[in-house]
Amino acid sequence: MRIGTTGKILRVDLTRGALRVEQLDEAFYRLYPGGRALAAYLLLRELPPHTEPFDPENILILANGLLTGAPFSTATRFTAVARSPLTRAFGESEAGGYWGPELKMAGWEAIVITGRAEQPVYLSIRDDRAEIRDARHLWGREPAEAQASIREELGDKLIRVLQIGIGGENLVRFAALTNELRHFNGRSGMGAVMGSKNLKAIAVRGTTRYLDLTQNPQPIAELGRVLAKRVREHPQSWDLQDKGTPGLVGSLNASGILPTRNFHQGAFENVDKVSWDAYEKELLTARRSCYACAVRCKREVAVNDRYQVSDAYGGPEYETVDGFGPNCGIDDLQAIAKANELCNRFTLDTISTSSVISFAMECFEHGLIGLKETGGIDLHFGNAAAMLQLVELIARRQGIGDLLAEGTRRAAERIGGDARYFAMQVKGQELPMHDPRGKVGVGIGYAINEAGADHLTAAHDPMVANPDSISFKSALPLGVEAVPARELSSRKARNYAILENWNSAEKVVGLCFFGPAPRSFIQVDEVVTAVRAATGWEVNARDILRIGERATNLARAFNLREGFSRAEDTLPERLFQPLENGALQGVAVPKAEFDQTMTEVYRHKGWDPETTAPTRARLRELDIEWVADWLEQA
Ligand code: SF4
Repeated sequence: MRIGTTGKILRVDLTRGALRVEQLDEAFYRLYPGGRALAAYLLLRELPPHTEPFDPENILILANGLLTGAPFSTATRFTAVARSPLTRAFGESEAGGYWGPELKMAGWEAIVITGRAEQPVYLSIRDDRAEIRDARHLWGREPAEAQASIREELGDKLIRVLQIGIGGENLVRFAALTNELRHFNGRSGMGAVMGSKNLKAIAVRGTTRYLDLTQNPQPIAELGRVLAKRVREHPQSWDLQDKGTPGLVGSLNASGILPTRNFHQGAFENVDKVSWDAYEKELLTARRSCYACAVRCKREVAVNDRYQVSDAYGGPEYETVDGFGPNCGIDDLQAIAKANELCNRFTLDTISTSSVISFAMECFEHGLIGLKETGGIDLHFGNAAAMLQLVELIARRQGIGDLLAEGTRRAAERIGGDARYFAMQVKGQELPMHDPRGKVGVGIGYAINEAGADHLTAAHDPMVANPDSISFKSALPLGVEAVPARELSSRKARNYAILENWNSAEKVVGLCFFGPAPRSFIQVDEVVTAVRAATGWEVNARDILRIGERATNLARAFNLREGFSRAEDTLPERLFQPLENGALQGVAVPKAEFDQTMTEVYRHKGWDPETTAPTRARLRELDIEWVADWLEQA
């Protein structure tokens, strides 16, 4: 089967200590060609309804995209899927780095993990040889130590290690997975699911070349050459290489949508202290990359001053700079870099960790929690030392950290009163650092995403707002029209539905959000060319959109089965209130128009606007009518 994959899945039953190989055929791959499509299919079909996230029966699926490991920029992503301990919904998180491509080179498309080991174990995979090994000596150790130890005992300095730190071991509900210490499946608490299975790490090494798995290697090799050159010529990819995502801080602040003090405000008075120029001067030591990616948007930092920050764990991304910075009222970049290092050492999602801390700070300012609850920590906005203390308490589940490790929604329910209003979350997952009051389509994505608030659900509105922009022109083959960033309307709903399908398809084929148009420099027809060359399938852009749409329908079906409804597809009340400062002072998401546009989005998706259930007709069009039968039974 030369379609960009071997179609081989490794089944791991940790309760029995058993490994099994499963072979998927091309007909299966035509419908579910990897990544979130493959993983969503398996979760929906195989997880017994209402299985609790920490039950050994929960299934953790790690799945490569169709193009993951292809030798061109941004073809690096793999997906982690399970029932989420944070939301109890469909849990999903993508990561780049090196682990996914290495798994592909080892000849595996996915690993499906069930059960719970009696004692900590890790998995070693070298090409087609897989074994479960004792990890008792690794439990409690930091990722850098654990990785070195695994490499030493396997006698392979370059084996790629995916693992959890103490956040996952302690079942922090937003614990992450890390590979190569610098790349993260941050969202949805996939690290906690892995911890609940007593699985410390998965080490992988492979020797198969991606191009040997494909029908037609030449166009893919050529694409690699073209894109490597284009990275430096295209303004969006060049900006990513030059500044990385931290470059967004200044522009979002100027636009009035830099989340500040728990989304209370949209601009930060000391933004210069945390913007790119300061970052470059104070923190930056190198630019790094994922597998075969010429964009090199990853930052590396080190500090030896007010704080000691190691360069082993990567540098803070935009989300982390804003989350631990302005959104906590903090203007100390070194403290932000330290918080990032701690999260990465403990394998905590930086978005959820920073958000639960800004939530706690607002509760403290309003007297909902006091020094008694915090153990004497002064939690006013702006207190960098307190913020760093909380990161550690959360990872260790000590003191107030034990409550905050449950996530903002659960913490707010226990604190009571106005705390619910301060919990910036959807379905239990904390908001990323993009304010929908300035780009309402991002709000639709937060509300509708099956995994809870996520900023990578669809391209952000400004990318398709200006008809003369390079990003808008690059999205034209998808069928979008130019719509202002804050407009809520039928045409916004249509744009959103298209862009959501496109982003979902990226997660199926394994491309990073920063690769394809409109976000960046890979054209729509080039994605089509790559899929065609890998598989030999005569697909077009519409087919690729359908691949993405199918995956989303599977995720939606999972949530419906678990009792989710339209009521959960909403935004925190604060976003319907006006921003207090900045360029958009006084601007809110208009609630009635938002609800109306959501209704239009469901219609475009072929879902019942009242229940959000996909109609049988739409499922038939997507060749997954069996889902309608399952939903009727449920
Ligand atoms: S664009 Fe950045 S995050 Fe995406 S694959 Fe390349 S280096 Fe990794």
